[in-house]
Amino acid sequence: MIKENPYMPIEARLEELIEETPTIKTLVLAPKEPIEFRAGQFMQLTYPGIGEAPFTPSSNPNQPQRQEFTILKVGKVTDKLHDVRPGETLGLRGAFGKGYPIDKFYGKEILLVGGGVGLAPLRALMYALFNEIDKFPRISIKYGARSPNELLFAGQYKKWRSMAKVDFTETVDAPVNSWQGNVGVVTTLLDNIDIDIKNAYVVSCGPPVMLKFVTQKCLGLGFTPSQIYLSMNRKMSCGIGVCGRCNIGPYYLCKDGPDMCYEKIMKYDNVF
Ligand SMILES: Cc1cc2nc3c(=O)[nH]c(=O)nc-3n(C[C@H](O)[C@H](O)[C@H](O)COP(=O)(O)OP(=O)(O)OC[C@H]3O[C@@H](n4cnc5c(N)ncnc54)[C@H](O)[C@@H]3O)c2cc1C
Repeated sequence: MIKENPYMPIEARLEELIEETPTIKTLVLAPKEPIEFRAGQFMQLTYPGIGEAPFTPSSNPNQPQRQEFTILKVGKVTDKLHDVRPGETLGLRGAFGKGYPIDKFYGKEILLVGGGVGLAPLRALMYALFNEIDKFPRISIKYGARSPNELLFAGQYKKWRSMAKVDFTETVDAPVNSWQGNVGVVTTLLDNIDIDIKNAYVVSCGPPVMLKFVTQKCLGLGFTPSQIYLSMNRKMSCGIGVCGRCNIGPYYLCKDGPDMCYEKIMKYDNVF
Protein backbone atom coordinates (compact mmCIF):
# COMPACT_ATOMS: atom_id res chain seq x y z
CA MET A 1 0.00 0.00 0.00
CA ILE A 2 1.35 3.50 -0.88
CA LYS A 3 1.62 5.95 2.01
CA GLU A 4 -0.17 9.33 2.01
CA ASN A 5 3.02 11.10 0.93
CA PRO A 6 4.42 8.77 -1.73
CA TYR A 7 7.78 10.55 -1.70
CA MET A 8 8.45 9.90 2.01
CA PRO A 9 10.46 6.71 2.58
CA ILE A 10 9.89 4.33 5.49
CA GLU A 11 13.04 3.56 7.47
CA ALA A 12 14.26 0.01 7.02
CA ARG A 13 17.06 -1.69 8.98
CA LEU A 14 19.45 -4.04 7.21
CA GLU A 15 19.18 -7.39 8.99
CA GLU A 16 21.43 -9.45 6.77
CA LEU A 17 23.55 -9.13 3.65
CA ILE A 18 23.82 -12.29 1.55
CA GLU A 19 26.56 -12.59 -1.07
CA GLU A 20 24.83 -14.44 -3.92
CA THR A 21 27.43 -14.13 -6.71
CA PRO A 22 30.52 -11.96 -7.24
CA THR A 23 28.26 -9.10 -8.44
CA ILE A 24 24.90 -9.74 -6.78
CA LYS A 25 23.94 -9.38 -3.13
CA THR A 26 20.64 -9.84 -1.30
CA LEU A 27 19.73 -7.22 1.28
CA VAL A 28 17.34 -8.48 3.96
CA LEU A 29 15.47 -5.47 5.33
CA ALA A 30 13.11 -4.99 8.26
CA PRO A 31 11.00 -1.86 7.61
CA LYS A 32 9.77 0.15 10.62
CA GLU A 33 6.23 -0.68 9.56
CA PRO A 34 5.16 -3.66 7.41
CA ILE A 35 5.03 -2.90 3.68
CA GLU A 36 2.46 -4.98 1.80
CA PHE A 37 3.34 -5.89 -1.76
CA ARG A 38 2.15 -8.21 -4.51
CA ALA A 39 4.69 -10.28 -6.46
CA GLY A 40 6.05 -8.11 -9.26
CA GLN A 41 5.39 -4.79 -7.53
CA PHE A 42 8.52 -2.77 -6.89
CA MET A 43 9.82 -0.34 -4.29
CA GLN A 44 12.21 2.59 -4.36
CA LEU A 45 15.17 1.81 -2.12
CA THR A 46 17.06 4.84 -0.78
CA TYR A 47 20.65 5.01 0.30
CA PRO A 48 20.63 8.20 2.42
CA GLY A 49 22.64 11.01 0.90
CA ILE A 50 23.26 9.16 -2.37
CA GLY A 51 19.91 8.50 -4.00
CA GLU A 52 17.24 5.90 -4.66
CA ALA A 53 16.66 3.20 -7.26
CA PRO A 54 13.78 0.82 -8.07
CA PHE A 55 13.96 -2.86 -7.12
CA THR A 56 11.40 -5.64 -7.01
CA PRO A 57 11.49 -7.65 -3.79
CA SER A 58 12.76 -11.20 -4.30
CA SER A 59 11.09 -12.41 -1.10
CA ASN A 60 7.77 -14.00 -0.28
CA PRO A 61 4.90 -11.46 -0.52
CA ASN A 62 3.47 -13.23 2.57
CA GLN A 63 6.14 -11.48 4.66
CA PRO A 64 5.40 -7.72 4.66
CA GLN A 65 7.58 -7.20 7.73
CA ARG A 66 10.77 -8.47 6.07
CA GLN A 67 11.70 -7.71 2.46
CA GLU A 68 14.60 -9.09 0.48
CA PHE A 69 16.11 -7.20 -2.47
CA THR A 70 18.56 -9.00 -4.73
CA ILE A 71 20.75 -6.39 -6.34
CA LEU A 72 23.25 -6.41 -9.19
CA LYS A 73 26.02 -3.86 -8.74
CA VAL A 74 25.98 -1.55 -11.78
CA GLY A 75 26.47 2.06 -10.66
CA LYS A 76 26.12 4.85 -8.14
CA VAL A 77 23.30 3.61 -5.89
CA THR A 78 23.89 -0.12 -6.28
CA ASP A 79 27.62 0.29 -5.45
CA LYS A 80 26.63 1.85 -2.12
CA LEU A 81 23.94 -0.74 -1.47
CA HIS A 82 26.53 -3.52 -1.79
CA ASP A 83 28.55 -1.88 1.01
CA VAL A 84 25.75 -1.49 3.57
CA ARG A 85 26.40 -3.23 6.88
CA PRO A 86 23.82 -5.00 9.08
CA GLY A 87 22.29 -2.51 11.51
CA GLU A 88 22.42 0.42 9.07
CA THR A 89 19.20 2.17 8.04
CA LEU A 90 17.98 2.59 4.46
CA GLY A 91 14.69 3.98 3.13
CA LEU A 92 11.87 2.20 1.29
CA ARG A 93 8.88 3.67 -0.51
CA GLY A 94 6.18 1.79 -2.32
CA ALA A 95 4.99 -0.68 -3.25
CA PHE A 96 4.43 0.61 -6.78
CA GLY A 97 3.06 -0.87 -9.97
CA LYS A 98 0.43 -3.53 -10.46
CA GLY A 99 2.27 -6.80 -9.90
CA TYR A 100 1.68 -10.03 -11.79
CA PRO A 101 -1.99 -10.88 -12.51
CA ILE A 102 -1.90 -14.10 -10.49
CA ASP A 103 -5.71 -14.57 -10.45
CA LYS A 104 -5.63 -14.70 -14.23
CA PHE A 105 -3.06 -17.53 -14.04
CA TYR A 106 -5.27 -19.83 -11.92
CA GLY A 107 -5.80 -23.21 -13.60
CA LYS A 108 -3.04 -22.61 -16.16
CA GLU A 109 0.44 -24.05 -16.58
CA ILE A 110 2.99 -21.37 -15.82
CA LEU A 111 6.32 -21.06 -17.59
CA LEU A 112 8.81 -18.67 -16.00
CA VAL A 113 11.89 -17.68 -17.99
CA GLY A 114 14.60 -15.72 -16.19
CA GLY A 115 18.01 -14.37 -17.10
CA GLY A 116 20.74 -13.13 -14.74
CA VAL A 117 19.42 -11.00 -11.90
CA GLY A 118 15.96 -11.34 -13.53
CA LEU A 119 15.45 -14.43 -11.39
CA ALA A 120 15.12 -12.06 -8.38
CA PRO A 121 11.67 -10.59 -9.24
CA LEU A 122 10.62 -14.03 -10.49
CA ARG A 123 11.49 -15.57 -7.10
CA ALA A 124 8.78 -13.43 -5.45
CA LEU A 125 6.36 -14.72 -8.09
CA MET A 126 7.54 -18.30 -7.51
CA TYR A 127 6.84 -17.96 -3.77
CA ALA A 128 3.41 -16.49 -4.54
CA LEU A 129 2.61 -19.40 -6.90
CA PHE A 130 3.97 -21.94 -4.40
CA ASN A 131 1.72 -20.38 -1.70
CA GLU A 132 -1.27 -21.49 -3.83
CA ILE A 133 0.28 -24.45 -5.62
CA ASP A 134 -3.03 -26.36 -5.73
CA LYS A 135 -4.33 -23.74 -8.20
CA PHE A 136 -1.72 -24.53 -10.87
CA PRO A 137 -1.33 -27.77 -12.86
CA ARG A 138 2.42 -27.21 -13.32
CA ILE A 139 5.10 -24.56 -12.88
CA SER A 140 8.18 -24.76 -15.12
CA ILE A 141 11.10 -22.46 -14.45
CA LYS A 142 13.90 -21.98 -16.97
CA TYR A 143 16.86 -19.90 -15.91
CA GLY A 144 20.06 -18.78 -17.61
CA ALA A 145 23.20 -17.07 -16.28
CA ARG A 146 26.45 -16.16 -17.98
CA SER A 147 28.61 -18.62 -16.02
CA PRO A 148 28.22 -21.16 -13.19
CA ASN A 149 29.42 -18.73 -10.51
CA GLU A 150 26.80 -16.19 -11.64
CA LEU A 151 23.87 -18.56 -11.06
CA LEU A 152 21.54 -16.83 -8.60
CA PHE A 153 20.00 -18.64 -5.59
CA ALA A 154 21.90 -21.83 -6.54
CA GLY A 155 21.43 -23.21 -3.01
CA GLN A 156 17.64 -23.37 -3.55
CA TYR A 157 17.50 -25.32 -6.84
CA LYS A 158 17.51 -28.75 -5.17
CA LYS A 159 14.51 -27.83 -3.03
CA TRP A 160 12.61 -26.32 -5.98
CA ARG A 161 13.28 -29.41 -8.11
CA SER A 162 11.97 -31.67 -5.33
CA MET A 163 8.59 -29.93 -5.20
CA ALA A 164 5.59 -31.68 -6.74
CA LYS A 165 4.37 -29.95 -9.95
CA VAL A 166 7.52 -27.78 -10.15
CA ASP A 167 10.38 -28.21 -12.55
CA PHE A 168 13.47 -26.03 -12.48
CA THR A 169 16.21 -26.12 -15.12
CA GLU A 170 19.23 -23.88 -15.39
CA THR A 171 21.80 -23.24 -18.10
CA VAL A 172 24.97 -21.18 -18.50
CA ASP A 173 26.35 -19.34 -21.54
CA ALA A 174 29.99 -20.07 -20.73
CA PRO A 175 30.81 -23.23 -18.77
CA VAL A 176 33.94 -23.93 -16.74
CA ASN A 177 35.67 -27.33 -16.95
CA SER A 178 33.85 -28.80 -13.96
CA TRP A 179 30.39 -27.79 -15.22
CA GLN A 180 28.25 -30.77 -16.21
CA GLY A 181 24.94 -29.00 -16.71
CA ASN A 182 23.26 -27.34 -19.67
CA VAL A 183 25.19 -24.92 -21.86
CA GLY A 184 23.54 -22.28 -24.05
CA VAL A 185 21.35 -19.22 -23.73
CA VAL A 186 18.10 -19.63 -21.83
CA THR A 187 15.95 -19.92 -24.96
CA THR A 188 17.69 -23.25 -25.74
CA LEU A 189 15.83 -24.65 -22.71
CA LEU A 190 12.57 -23.93 -24.54
CA ASP A 191 13.42 -26.29 -27.40
CA ASN A 192 11.17 -29.37 -27.11
CA ILE A 193 9.53 -28.00 -23.97
CA ASP A 194 6.88 -30.25 -22.46
CA ILE A 195 3.99 -27.85 -21.85
CA ASP A 196 0.33 -27.58 -22.85
CA ILE A 197 0.82 -24.29 -24.71
CA LYS A 198 -2.90 -23.64 -25.24
CA ASN A 199 -3.42 -23.76 -21.49
CA ALA A 200 -0.36 -21.81 -20.33
CA TYR A 201 1.07 -18.39 -19.57
CA VAL A 202 4.71 -17.41 -19.84
CA VAL A 203 6.32 -14.76 -17.65
CA SER A 204 9.82 -13.55 -18.42
CA CYS A 205 12.25 -11.27 -16.60
CA GLY A 206 15.77 -10.44 -17.70
CA PRO A 207 17.76 -8.05 -19.85
CA PRO A 208 15.87 -6.46 -22.80
CA VAL A 209 17.70 -8.53 -25.42
CA MET A 210 16.73 -11.72 -23.60
CA LEU A 211 13.10 -10.62 -23.38
CA LYS A 212 13.13 -10.06 -27.13
CA PHE A 213 14.44 -13.54 -27.92
CA VAL A 214 12.19 -15.23 -25.34
CA THR A 215 9.18 -13.47 -26.89
CA GLN A 216 10.17 -14.52 -30.41
CA LYS A 217 10.75 -18.08 -29.29
CA CYS A 218 7.44 -18.29 -27.43
CA LEU A 219 5.51 -16.88 -30.39
CA GLY A 220 7.25 -19.49 -32.56
CA LEU A 221 6.17 -22.23 -30.14
CA GLY A 222 2.54 -21.14 -30.53
CA PHE A 223 1.96 -18.86 -27.52
CA THR A 224 -0.26 -15.90 -28.44
CA PRO A 225 0.82 -12.34 -27.45
CA SER A 226 -1.91 -12.39 -24.78
CA GLN A 227 -0.22 -15.35 -23.07
CA ILE A 228 3.15 -13.62 -22.71
CA TYR A 229 4.00 -11.34 -19.77
CA LEU A 230 7.25 -9.37 -19.70
CA SER A 231 8.83 -7.64 -16.70
CA MET A 232 9.91 -4.28 -18.08
CA ASN A 233 12.46 -3.28 -15.45
CA ARG A 234 13.89 -0.40 -17.36
CA LYS A 235 14.85 3.02 -16.09
CA MET A 236 12.15 4.84 -14.19
CA SER A 237 12.18 7.77 -11.86
CA CYS A 238 9.11 8.91 -9.90
CA GLY A 239 7.47 5.48 -9.62
CA ILE A 240 3.96 6.97 -9.59
CA GLY A 241 3.12 7.77 -13.21
CA VAL A 242 4.07 11.43 -13.22
CA CYS A 243 7.46 11.97 -14.87
CA GLY A 244 6.89 9.90 -18.02
CA ARG A 245 10.43 8.54 -18.13
CA CYS A 246 9.29 4.94 -18.42
CA ASN A 247 6.52 5.26 -21.03
CA ILE A 248 5.80 2.71 -23.72
CA GLY A 249 3.08 4.24 -25.89
CA PRO A 250 0.36 5.43 -23.49
CA TYR A 251 1.52 3.11 -20.69
CA TYR A 252 3.53 4.20 -17.67
CA LEU A 253 5.57 1.11 -16.76
CA CYS A 254 5.83 2.27 -13.15
CA LYS A 255 2.04 2.51 -12.79
CA ASP A 256 0.60 0.15 -15.43
CA GLY A 257 3.49 -2.35 -15.18
CA PRO A 258 6.29 -3.06 -14.71
CA ASP A 259 4.93 -6.44 -15.84
CA MET A 260 3.13 -5.98 -19.13
CA CYS A 261 1.16 -8.32 -21.31
CA TYR A 262 2.97 -8.39 -24.66
CA GLU A 263 -0.35 -8.02 -26.50
CA LYS A 264 -0.76 -4.52 -25.00
CA ILE A 265 2.67 -3.18 -25.97
CA MET A 266 3.68 -5.11 -29.09
CA LYS A 267 2.71 -2.32 -31.51
CA TYR A 268 5.12 0.22 -29.96
CA ASP A 269 8.67 0.44 -31.23
CA ASN A 270 10.48 0.89 -27.89
CA VAL A 271 9.46 -2.41 -26.27
CA PHE A 272 12.91 -4.06 -26.31
C1 LIG B 1 10.71 -1.96 -11.66
C2 LIG B 1 12.19 -2.25 -11.59
C3 LIG B 1 12.62 -3.33 -10.83
C4 LIG B 1 13.99 -3.61 -10.75
N1 LIG B 1 14.40 -4.68 -9.97
C5 LIG B 1 15.71 -4.94 -9.86
C6 LIG B 1 16.15 -6.03 -9.05
O1 LIG B 1 15.36 -6.76 -8.44
N2 LIG B 1 17.48 -6.23 -8.96
C7 LIG B 1 18.41 -5.44 -9.62
O2 LIG B 1 19.61 -5.67 -9.50
N3 LIG B 1 18.00 -4.43 -10.41
C8 LIG B 1 16.70 -4.15 -10.54
N4 LIG B 1 16.30 -3.09 -11.31
C9 LIG B 1 17.33 -2.26 -11.99
C10 LIG B 1 17.86 -1.23 -11.00
O3 LIG B 1 16.84 -0.30 -10.69
C11 LIG B 1 19.07 -0.48 -11.61
O4 LIG B 1 20.13 -1.38 -11.76
C12 LIG B 1 19.49 0.67 -10.71
O5 LIG B 1 18.53 1.70 -10.81
C13 LIG B 1 20.85 1.21 -11.11
O6 LIG B 1 21.13 2.29 -10.25
P1 LIG B 1 22.62 2.81 -10.05
O7 LIG B 1 22.52 4.19 -9.45
O8 LIG B 1 23.45 1.81 -9.31
O9 LIG B 1 23.16 2.87 -11.52
P2 LIG B 1 23.48 4.17 -12.40
O10 LIG B 1 24.76 4.79 -11.87
O11 LIG B 1 22.26 5.04 -12.52
O12 LIG B 1 23.71 3.47 -13.80
C14 LIG B 1 24.73 2.51 -14.03
C15 LIG B 1 24.46 1.76 -15.31
O13 LIG B 1 23.27 0.96 -15.20
C16 LIG B 1 22.35 1.34 -16.21
N5 LIG B 1 21.02 1.24 -15.62
C17 LIG B 1 20.50 2.02 -14.65
N6 LIG B 1 19.24 1.65 -14.37
C18 LIG B 1 18.95 0.63 -15.19
C19 LIG B 1 17.79 -0.19 -15.39
N7 LIG B 1 16.65 -0.02 -14.73
N8 LIG B 1 17.88 -1.16 -16.32
C20 LIG B 1 19.00 -1.34 -17.02
N9 LIG B 1 20.12 -0.61 -16.87
C21 LIG B 1 20.09 0.36 -15.97
C22 LIG B 1 22.74 2.74 -16.62
O14 LIG B 1 22.33 3.03 -17.93
C23 LIG B 1 24.23 2.68 -16.49
O15 LIG B 1 24.81 2.06 -17.62
C24 LIG B 1 14.95 -2.80 -11.43
C25 LIG B 1 14.50 -1.73 -12.21
C26 LIG B 1 13.14 -1.45 -12.27
C27 LIG B 1 12.68 -0.28 -13.08
